[in-house]
Amino acid sequence: MSSEDLRIKQLEQKLENKNKEIENLQDENKRLQETVSNLDTEAYKFKELVYSSRFLFAIFLGEDFIIDVANDSLKKVWGKGDDIIGKPLLELLPELKDQGIKELLENVYRTGEPYYADEVPIELIINGKPEIRYFDFTYQPQRNAQGEIIGVADIAADVTKQALLNKKIKKSEREFRKLVNFMPHKISLANAEGETIFYNQNWLDYVDKNLEDFIDEPWTDILHPDEKEKVEDVVAGCLSKGNNFDKEIRLRDRNGDYKWHICRATAVKNEEGEITSWISSSTEIQKLKDEEKRNEDFLKLISHELKTPVTSIKGYVQLLLSMLPKNNSDIDKKLIIKPYLNRIETQVERLIRLISEMLDMSRIEQNELELKKEEFNLNQHTEEIIEDLTYTNKDFQLELQHDFECDVFADKDRIGQVLINFITNAVKYSPDSNRVQIKIHEYDPETVAITVKDFGIGIKENEQKQIFKRFYRISGEKADTYAGFGIGLFLSNEIIERHNGKIIVKSEVGKGSEFTFTIPLNHKL
Ligand code: ADP
Repeated sequence: MSSEDLRIKQLEQKLENKNKEIENLQDENKRLQETVSNLDTEAYKFKELVYSSRFLFAIFLGEDFIIDVANDSLKKVWGKGDDIIGKPLLELLPELKDQGIKELLENVYRTGEPYYADEVPIELIINGKPEIRYFDFTYQPQRNAQGEIIGVADIAADVTKQALLNKKIKKSEREFRKLVNFMPHKISLANAEGETIFYNQNWLDYVDKNLEDFIDEPWTDILHPDEKEKVEDVVAGCLSKGNNFDKEIRLRDRNGDYKWHICRATAVKNEEGEITSWISSSTEIQKLKDEEKRNEDFLKLISHELKTPVTSIKGYVQLLLSMLPKNNSDIDKKLIIKPYLNRIETQVERLIRLISEMLDMSRIEQNELELKKEEFNLNQHTEEIIEDLTYTNKDFQLELQHDFECDVFADKDRIGQVLINFITNAVKYSPDSNRVQIKIHEYDPETVAITVKDFGIGIKENEQKQIFKRFYRISGEKADTYAGFGIGLFLSNEIIERHNGKIIVKSEVGKGSEFTFTIPLNHKL
């Protein structure tokens, strides 16, 4: 190959290489163009985001804080129109100068340390009128490629609505606290789990503790040891079921003395019905309790004092009666006094029963009613009682039916007292009938029951529970017709409850009533 050919070959080779380089450069160029175009799109998107955002966004350049960027939301808040780019911020908004904003911006510009603020009130002159707006904002230093600070970026949110609402909430919370501290009651607030998160001043004064210390203690520590366990059980039940709590309990004060309180708690629920918290109020009733005790003691004293002379009157009447000849046919002058003595005896019996009921009642109030349990035959005891009652209620037909025979372990006199109360009521509240049916029957395999059925005036359904309350008597036109104090059923209920039994009432106005009491069969409890 000639040297000429060789050169041509080399030149061709070079040309081919150059072409390849050009091709590569073209590829590279295309890729760069794509990247630039992507970047443009990104920048556009970013710009769009900033400009259309509800957040307020601006960049201030230099120490005069020349507005370089400000999005539409910010322009709207400033209310100075669109033509603001290139203007110094504090010339555009001179009102900011007296509100510490200038100093804040200068500090960020000088130190490079960002500044964050929440719910700051700023007065702006918007469309010529001064207006207070609240802002959450951040001042961020802006740097160039060399890292030098060239300006400050302002990213803010107008939180005026939220801030005004928060102010209202804070105001109503302040008022609520004041109200709660002003009240004479002890008020507390607990979370859904029952952990106390607030006690009012009265609570803190009562225990002489500060809020932090008292909250850290379980509140049940100040309960009276006799009630603690029971109250804790009831509270646990309320918490799990969402029921209201309503109880009289004793709470220990700052001197270690226990004082009676009425304590109430109620659940606060959200819209879904879930419990969010508990509000409790405790009101001291120690003075009332003391008063009640004085009354009870007085009643007890009077009953005791009355019982002795009345019992001796009864004794003398019975003695006089026994001295009279038994035979009615004897024509004896002395006989004239017999019916009067009989009447005195009946009246004295009533008086004795009333005094005993009053005494029993004060015993119950003071938790002193004790049962003297023994084993006895219920059928025989019932028969004896009915025999006695038949003697004093001669016009009445007391029909006894033994469907079941059994022994019980119970307080014989007290069970008799309940039965007498049922039967005397049946007689008393049956003005147009003279039949009373008494039935002894099995209630369930463990329990015996005695039912006393009358055909008297009956009891309205809404009063059937009330009649067991102390001194409760059914009011109405006939109220004065029937003598009584409304103590008998209250006592009967207490006696039967203490025997772990219950009383059941069935009644229909105008048709009659059926009173049943149950007691466990010969269980030595
Ligand atoms: P008292 O009969 O002394 O008033 P109780 O406690 O024995 O007191 O009874 C309470 C009330 O229940 C009575 O006042 C009466 O209104 C009502 N009551 C009780 N038993 C009957 C009955 N068998 N029939 C109708 N009402 C009754």
